[in-house]
Amino acid sequence: MIRPILKYGDNPLHEPALSVEAFTSDVDRIIGDLVDTMYAAPGIGLAAPQVGIPLRIFVIDLSLGHDPNGLLVMVNPEFVEREGMQLEDEGCLSVPGFNATVARPARAIVKGWNREGQEQIIEGNGLLARCFQHEIDHLDGTLFVDRLRGLQKDLIVRKIKKLSRSGKW
Ligand SMILES: [Zn+2]
Repeated sequence: MIRPILKYGDNPLHEPALSVEAFTSDVDRIIGDLVDTMYAAPGIGLAAPQVGIPLRIFVIDLSLGHDPNGLLVMVNPEFVEREGMQLEDEGCLSVPGFNATVARPARAIVKGWNREGQEQIIEGNGLLARCFQHEIDHLDGTLFVDRLRGLQKDLIVRKIKKLSRSGKW
């Protein structure tokens, strides 16, 4: 089921999410909804808080569904290792219409559980490392806008507030 995607300013987007305690049918349904919603958007990643569910789950598919093995489901993810730094333009389905250059690790190893509840350890370089950091940030209540500084951040926040006031956000 495709769920509406929350936008900057909505809760629980700005609050830390809770760990998944058990692989229930509810959790499986949430994962299915995340996948459907990500592909429909379309986007290359989506975290549960973005659809209003405060649980530590995200999905990523850099192929946008074109590669049958492209889907990655991560439950209760944790960083095992992070190194290096990359500066690339980044956006977010919860901040539509805005992009900014964000500093991210060049390489990241993440440990978590897959949809079946089995442990998996996945190494990401480049775009995948960036996605790992972006999605785990979502689980901690952080959006890419929160990682910006100074004028760049003020400008985006001001524009969002203006859109909100006029009912266009
Ligand atoms: Zn995002």
